[in-house]
Amino acid sequence: DEMDVDTIWMDGEFVDWDEAQVHVLTHGLHYGSGVFEGARCYETEKGPALFRWEEHLERLFQSAKPYEMDIEFTKEELTEATKELIRRQELPSCYVRPIAYYGYNSLGVSPKDCPTRTAIAVWPWGAYLGEDALENGIDVMISSWRKHSSSQIPTNAKTTGLYVNSMLAGEEARRNGYAEAIVLNKEGHVAEGPGENVFLVRDGEIYTPALSESILDGITRDSVITIAEDLGYTVHDNVSISRGELNTADELFFTGSAAEVTPIRKVDNVVIGDGSRGPVTEELQQKFFEIVEEAPDEYAEWFEFVDIE
Ligand code: PMP
Repeated sequence: DEMDVDTIWMDGEFVDWDEAQVHVLTHGLHYGSGVFEGARCYETEKGPALFRWEEHLERLFQSAKPYEMDIEFTKEELTEATKELIRRQELPSCYVRPIAYYGYNSLGVSPKDCPTRTAIAVWPWGAYLGEDALENGIDVMISSWRKHSSSQIPTNAKTTGLYVNSMLAGEEARRNGYAEAIVLNKEGHVAEGPGENVFLVRDGEIYTPALSESILDGITRDSVITIAEDLGYTVHDNVSISRGELNTADELFFTGSAAEVTPIRKVDNVVIGDGSRGPVTEELQQKFFEIVEEAPDEYAEWFEFVDIE
């Protein structure tokens, strides 16, 4: 009991990490019929706090809709479960992974007889692309794979099955010596990274592909747009970005709950700007990390405190 036990919340119960198993005939395993989230709990000066938790929960429930998946827990129950996991494991900061998926009953493609299962795991997770990446940036490759189009699959839902495309793109990039990929959409416009949204800086203004470009409505994307506007920048978030515009950008960066704000220094070995973290990226990144460290009053609604006694 005095030991921190690794615990996962599954369908209303706290279970040991090693016991958190599913049946091999789980629908979600065979057909990718799960929806999930990735959020962070930050160690703020005011205590551990889930960052933009409301928005993550809202996106989880929205992701379930096209799949007619009925998550059997309320947002309040999922919030309490998450907080309890963090408290029990005494984690000052962590990554949070809620998932809902069609479970095991029959293996027809129709999930109608399958139960909806829900789980939440939390674990310590540092910088997704490495500490060095946050400071010095990463080299990325334009993937030879295209993103699913929103006419083929709901790209605004965070569905497990979608991530085989992310895996292909990311692994192709790493096989070729790059840290990550940028994936174009069916039209050939810049869409996003495998698990990140992408931003461009040109002549002091900020650009990011429109939601209609078959991208995920990233919560960090939204946070960075807000932060940038609060700092007085003009943000164009309803545009198409061509591949060529990446090469001529002054700065590029990724955003994501895992990736936070990660500068991009080269695309297909073409140096972007001066090949290091640019000044606008640095300012936005610093402000982002300052906010998640201080949980200031101006951004109070972005924080859900874990309430450790
Ligand atoms: N695009 C994709 C495909 C992603 O998986 C993610 C990570 N959830 C993002 C963008 C960034 O979204 P967020 O800032 O909400 O984590």
